[in-house]
Amino acid sequence: MTSPLPRRLRSRLALKQTVSFALLVIVLAWSAYGFLSRRIYDQLDAELQDRGIAVRSMLQVRSNEVRWINKAADPEVREQFERSIRFYELLDDHGRALESSQEMSGLRLPWTETASETLTTGRTGWETFKLPTGTNLRILDSPVVGFQQRRYVMRIGTLMSDAEEDVSRIRLIMLALVPLILLGQALNSWLIAGRELRAIEQLTVAARQINALDLSARFPVSGTGDELDQLSTALNGTLTKLQVSFQRMSEFLRNLSHEIRQPLTVMRAEAEQALRVRGGDEAYREMLSKQLEHVELLARTVSDLMELAQSDTEEIKLNCQTEDLSEMVQAAIDGMRLKSTELSIQISGTVQQNVIGQFDPGQMWRLILNLLDNAIKYNHPDGRVDVVLSSHQDSAILTVTDTGHGISAEEQQRIFERGYRAASIRKSVSGTGLGLHFARSIARAHGGDIEVSSSPGRGSSFRVTLPLITVADSPVNKSHEKSVQ
Ligand code: ADP
Repeated sequence: MTSPLPRRLRSRLALKQTVSFALLVIVLAWSAYGFLSRRIYDQLDAELQDRGIAVRSMLQVRSNEVRWINKAADPEVREQFERSIRFYELLDDHGRALESSQEMSGLRLPWTETASETLTTGRTGWETFKLPTGTNLRILDSPVVGFQQRRYVMRIGTLMSDAEEDVSRIRLIMLALVPLILLGQALNSWLIAGRELRAIEQLTVAARQINALDLSARFPVSGTGDELDQLSTALNGTLTKLQVSFQRMSEFLRNLSHEIRQPLTVMRAEAEQALRVRGGDEAYREMLSKQLEHVELLARTVSDLMELAQSDTEEIKLNCQTEDLSEMVQAAIDGMRLKSTELSIQISGTVQQNVIGQFDPGQMWRLILNLLDNAIKYNHPDGRVDVVLSSHQDSAILTVTDTGHGISAEEQQRIFERGYRAASIRKSVSGTGLGLHFARSIARAHGGDIEVSSSPGRGSSFRVTLPLITVADSPVNKSHEKSVQ
């Protein structure tokens, strides 16, 4: 699948290339059109000029009398002449027509400045008249010198319709060709950009696979030795170093957790033993039970750290079996009652019976306890915690609602991140920021999820959805084992 980043880059590259190419093509097409149309009109003028010279050579004027050399003599020449000179007239120095062809006399062209200039300067002149039919008539004014150096103007013309048609045909071809060329170029640029960006896309895909849990992925090296290859090689080197130091850190964390766990277990056992002995000073017993609480908190933190160290390198295994979720939730509520009473928080449960499914009891217990613990921990004295378990269609739904200080919208996005703790409670409430991360991983590993809704200052509600898979259709039934990250 193409990721949006290269696709955007690809479109941008293709667009830039097409726009610069389009400018070039439009300028070229425009120049070619100008050049070709000029050629066509020039050719028309050249033909008219040749015809003018030919006619002029056949013409003799003697005191307002026109004589045609050859014309009368040779009927064939005459016919040809009349056919080719559809638009002809000879004007005297007052603009009066001495002679004109039939079509020309019907037009009654005005005496113009160009004609008068031809008369005075003796130079040929060009004019274009728009006829009532809409067609343009190209006219050549040539000087004719008659008897006693008297000057006349000979006008011959030709319709421009053929030339104009040729020019408009060229325009049409250009208008059709330019978009086609541009479309082809756009497609070509898109394909070329796609080919070039595929390497970057592969880098993006590889980069997405890299995370703190899995540093084993590497960037692809094509072997061409180009800049992208060099970048991939450099990044791969950095990744290898990171992987080694991450492994060392997790190993250290695991060893450390192990070292701390042992004395903690001994301390807890001793404190419990001491508390079991009857009698003794009440103040001393209270101190001991407080110490036991601290030891338990420390033990939980250590086991979270252990889990964290493990999750950097390995997957957590899920051992599923048929479990009654109702019993687990009820037991968790009962277990938390003592702690909530101590903090003057009222805990209530509405638990639907016989909500049975395939769960890993240890992990599920951890999930439920974490949600209840947070609901009490982040609550106010005299607050409430309401736990509801129900089943809808094929899912179990567990909601834990509290009247605590709530979570801002911004923090709601982050509370499931590993190690995240809201800044406002970091100092006042103890914790590791791992509980919700693991709770969500556990829910997801069971095929479910956790959602949070909260209004700051009023409380929060965590909603866990878990599919209720029966033994027969459980995908984990055979192995009873599933992985959670
Ligand atoms: P911990 O409780 O150890 O800090 P969690 O992963 O369980 O770690 O919770 C992460 C953060 O989410 C907490 O630090 C807290 O800021 C916030 N949080 C979790 N549950 C609640 C709750 N019920 N009310 C308010 N904030 C909560």
